[in-house]
Amino acid sequence: MNTPDPHDFLDLDAELSGEERDIRDAVREYAAEQLAPNVADWYETGALPAAELAKGFGQLGLLGMHLEGYGCAGTSAMAYGIACRELEAVDSGLRSFVSVQGSLAMYAIHRWGSDEQKAEWLPRMATGEALGCFGLTEPDAGSDPGSMRTRAVRDGSDWVLDGTKMWITNGTVAAVAVVWAQTDDGIRGFVVPTSTPGFTANEVKHKLSLRASLTAELVLDGVRLPGSAAFPEVRGLRGPLNCLNEARYGILFGVVGAARACYESALEYTLSRTQFGKPLAGFQLTQRKLADLLVEVNRSGLIAQRIGRLKDAGTLHHHHVSFGKLSNVRSALDVARTARSMLGANGISLEYPVMRHMSNLETVLTYEGTEEMHALTLGQSITTLPAFR
Ligand code: FAD
Repeated sequence: MNTPDPHDFLDLDAELSGEERDIRDAVREYAAEQLAPNVADWYETGALPAAELAKGFGQLGLLGMHLEGYGCAGTSAMAYGIACRELEAVDSGLRSFVSVQGSLAMYAIHRWGSDEQKAEWLPRMATGEALGCFGLTEPDAGSDPGSMRTRAVRDGSDWVLDGTKMWITNGTVAAVAVVWAQTDDGIRGFVVPTSTPGFTANEVKHKLSLRASLTAELVLDGVRLPGSAAFPEVRGLRGPLNCLNEARYGILFGVVGAARACYESALEYTLSRTQFGKPLAGFQLTQRKLADLLVEVNRSGLIAQRIGRLKDAGTLHHHHVSFGKLSNVRSALDVARTARSMLGANGISLEYPVMRHMSNLETVLTYEGTEEMHALTLGQSITTLPAFR
């Protein structure tokens, strides 16, 4: 019997269907040709060719790929997870690009939108012709989105929106923003064309993490919209939280890719670099670290694939997603930090992917529910006692 493959030790890829493997290969190939050679530059300059990327992702069928109809591919949840994994093996910012488009902006319109809103936006968003963003977080409302101050009030049959959203991915390049606001009737979602007078997106500068991703402050100053701009049915936090759950699902797969890339970089580096007359990988302390990385990468991959199967079976609870996000992001960050040490001085350079991943994963630990929020969700799940406030 052959020894296990160091790049897929538990042979997890054997569990994938033919379609899932095809998608894995297509995304890997695209990532290797179009993304990996450029990502260090994008990261260093903090600039991203968003329109070009959107077109490429659209042609590959990645935008809203797990949604049905409106030009979306309608793949399994597992296939979507695998695509996120392969994208995030290059950079968390690129996976965020696809997550925000498909799982936040498009999903929100697909799940909660009127027929007119769906027909107007989804086909163009699936091809990448129109980018979307998702505005929930505010300067003073992050983990506690219920305390948001953005307000939508009625003026005749119109809505008028005022407020500020913060840390909004793709806000500066979006054609449409899904904005959540307080109304007399509870929190509601609005489909806001970003060309509407009173809407401004300002780039967030000075980020030290997720630099290959565009982040914005959205200012809504008397943004007047027709009555048809509101999502018709949904009220309260259920609306945005339902979308976040979709995006978190992509994250718990994505970070397996980031962890795998760090492990592979550390393995390759320590096998080729010699100190004290032999490869670094030949020292016991290095092997201990490699074994720890291997275990974490495979454990998180196993968790992701189990959660993927639960989602496709229709039995996934959002507490499972909290489990996966908490466990896999923490594990990827541990892997990245350990791998960073194994590359010595080269570990801090953009010539290697490890520190870039490590720094990105600090954002991933925080957005889509911080580590603490997911711990509290799990705490409530197992004790029935809410400890959020
Ligand atoms: P806070 O909520 O202020 O939390 C600060 C710390 O306090 C955290 O450690 C938190 O866990 C802890 N804490 C808070 N409450 C409690 C409690 N009850 N018990 C214990 N600890 C607690 N948002 C969007 O809406 N759309 C986007 O596209 C988007 N993209 C983002 C991109 C980037 C690069 C980043 C960094 C963020 C993005 N976010 C986005 C925002 C993100 O979701 C929030 O940053 C996140 O929800 C945390 O909110 P906060 O930063 O205000 O932290």
